This record gives sequence, C-alpha cells and structure tokens, in this order.
Amino acid sequence: MTTTPAGVPGVDYPAPLYPGITYVIPCGGAKLDRAAPAAELYIGSMFRHALVNVERLAAMDEDEGRGPARVLILSALHGLVELGTVLEPYDLRIDAPGSVTAETLAAQALDLGIDWGSAVYAFLPRAYLARLDEALRTLDVYVQDVYEACRGNGDQRRVLSIAGTDHRAPAPVVPAGPGPVVWIGADVNGFTWGVPILVSYGRLRDVQTLPVARAPWVLDSRGFNEIREHGEWTIDPAAYVADCRRYAAEIGHLQWVAPQDWPAGAALLERTGLTEAEHQARTVASVVQLRAMAPDLNVIAVVTGKDVAGYLRCIDAYADAGIDLRAERLPIGVGALVGRAPADAAAIVQVLHAAGLRNLHGFGVKGRVLDLVGDLLASVDSAGWSDEARRRTGACPHGLVAWERNCPRAAQEWGAGLRARAAGADVQEALPLFG
Ligand SMILES: [Zn+2]
Repeated sequence: MTTTPAGVPGVDYPAPLYPGITYVIPCGGAKLDRAAPAAELYIGSMFRHALVNVERLAAMDEDEGRGPARVLILSALHGLVELGTVLEPYDLRIDAPGSVTAETLAAQALDLGIDWGSAVYAFLPRAYLARLDEALRTLDVYVQDVYEACRGNGDQRRVLSIAGTDHRAPAPVVPAGPGPVVWIGADVNGFTWGVPILVSYGRLRDVQTLPVARAPWVLDSRGFNEIREHGEWTIDPAAYVADCRRYAAEIGHLQWVAPQDWPAGAALLERTGLTEAEHQARTVASVVQLRAMAPDLNVIAVVTGKDVAGYLRCIDAYADAGIDLRAERLPIGVGALVGRAPADAAAIVQVLHAAGLRNLHGFGVKGRVLDLVGDLLASVDSAGWSDEARRRTGACPHGLVAWERNCPRAAQEWGAGLRARAAGADVQEALPLFG
C-alpha cells in the first residue's frame, strides 16, 4: 500500500506498518476551552477513565512482550489522532453532518501504519465503531470490538477497569501484625499512598476521574455529617449503591462500605428529635436494605447508642431484624464514639467486645481511647493524618513528592505509629456478659 501525505503532492511512498497493537478510544463531548494535546483536550469522566485504563493496558502489553502498543483517539471531527496531536476545541458528534468520513479515516489509518494484518482493538460506542469498521474493511483490517457484549455505559466502564487492571500484581492485602488496622482518613489523593485508607462518600461523589486504588480501602457513608446538616438522609439508597458499585469496579480493592446509619449520640438525637430506638431502627433498616439491594457489596453493620446500655440494645435491634452480630462475617462498625470522653468511649468498646462482638471497627477512634482499648479493636480509622499533614509545611525529605504533606511514606509512618500505640494498649478485659 502507498499513501500520499498532505503537502507532498504526487509523491507516493509506503508508510511503515505499525508492528504492534493499536487501541482506539472515542473523543468526548466535554473539552477544554483552548487548544491542547488530544490526551488533555477531553475532560469528561468517561474519556479520562478510558484513557487511563487503555494506556495502562498498552503498557502491560509492552511489558509482557506483545510488541509495541499505542492508543489513538477517534475524533468525530479530526478522525484518528495520536495522543500528542494538538487540537482546537470543537463541537461535533459522530452522527452529525461534517463528521469524519470513512475515506478520510482509511487514509489516516494508512498514514499511521495500519494495513492488512494490523491488530486494532476498539473501545468504541456503536456509531464510532461503525465508521471505523467501514474505513478499515477497505484495508482488509477487521476491528476487534472490545465492547461487543456491553449493554451500556456502566458495562463499558467495567470493561475498561478490568482491561486496565494489572493481573500480574498480587491483590493488596490488609497488613497483618499487632494492633488494629489503621485506615487513614483521606480524600481522593490518598489512593496513591499505597496504604489502607478510609474515604468518605462526601469526598468521592463529585470526583470526575476516579483513581485506581493501590491498597485496600473502605468507604464511610458520611452519616454523621448528613444527619447533622440535614437532620435526615438526603442521599437516595439506590444512588448510594450505584456509586459504591462504581467505586468497587473502577477504583478497585474496596473492602467494605458503611450503611446509611443514624448515629445516636446526644447531639444528633437532639438534632432529629427522634428517640435512640428510632435511630437504631433506621440504622438496622439501612443495613438490611442495602444488603438486599447489593449482596455484592460488603455493607457492614454499625452499632450506635446513647450510652453503654444503648449499644447493647442495638445488638438486640439487629437480632430482631434477623442479623446476629455475634456471627457476622464482616467487621462491625462502632459508631458515635467521637465526641465522648475517652473513658466512656472505651467502656462502650469493652462492653461490645465482652458481649461477644468481634472484628470491631472503631469509627474515628484515636488518642487515649486507643491506649485504653486499642487491642480490642480489629481496625480504626483516623482523620488525624490530614490535620497532622497540614502542619508539615516543608519539602519531602524522602524525595518522593514535592511537599511532605502529600508524602506517602509520612502517611505510612504515621499510621504505623498509631497502630503501635494501639498494640501497646493495656486492656482490663471485661468479663464476658454472655456465654
Ligand atoms: Zn516524604
């Protein structure tokens, strides 16, 4: 095959055949308002998700010796473009008049070294795929439709996540060792630290481009803030489940999610004007509902109460709903501890442990409470790192990042310190209340 590059009229020469795999992703509607390389021009979440994962897939192909691999973008206006090609913003859909023709696409493909025998994989919606297929058939190239069995956007997102997951790397595991696992409270930047983190739903729901987790993580539902701000839940359970599933598929390594709980500490009881029993009933109802809606998600039970006796009543409320907390496979969240005197919070943990509850997760447990009952807890989360990090204003001495407040090693060391403190807890274990 020969081709005539623009600007060299009448001169034909063979374009070298690209010797590897070509992946094609579609352009996106949302764009920057200025000229930029194609890889940066499109800012929509689906485009960013596709680019991140397919680039990762191409890198794995190269690492594993399947030859070079590249990602091209199929632009409705410009046709096949390389990631570095600078484009002006434009507004055109593939199905609109003036979109790139199959003839133009075929000529571009030849210029890009695509010809008979080339491996071309498309991550493209129907209309894009049809145009590319029409073009490449004239070159006897048959496009592989990666989305063949996908029914919609959600399926496509999942396929992309799976494609971009490095299956050679072992799945990260929650570190073993003395002391409770410390899930460091973090926002979306924490996913790069490579340590266990807890992220609140409130921090994630508006994120455009979801990151990929390098370590296990857990999701808090923002129950405390939700009830404090609104006096009720304003987040639809179906929306919460849909988002949790998206996080599980796209971010990966999601260990468990909190229910839409109703903390029964004094301040929130006052806020809603409801009884402790009502807060507990609604918390239990959320666990039952979310588990029924999404058995694929690990929705943990969360116990809450006004005081020690209230927490024990919460165990009964779960039992009445058919959930035996003493036989839970998942961790059990102990909520509403924040804001209590350390001795009171510690007494609650001690009594729950004595009541036969295991694998307890202490929400927001820190400091003195850790000293008192840290080794009765399987895990804690702490927002303390973000406060601590804000005080670390200097450059990163480890040479890992520019600023120490973003340093993964600093976060790691801080979590390890907390864990060691909890491991040293000197607990006077209460006598078991129940056989
Ligand atoms: Zn550092």
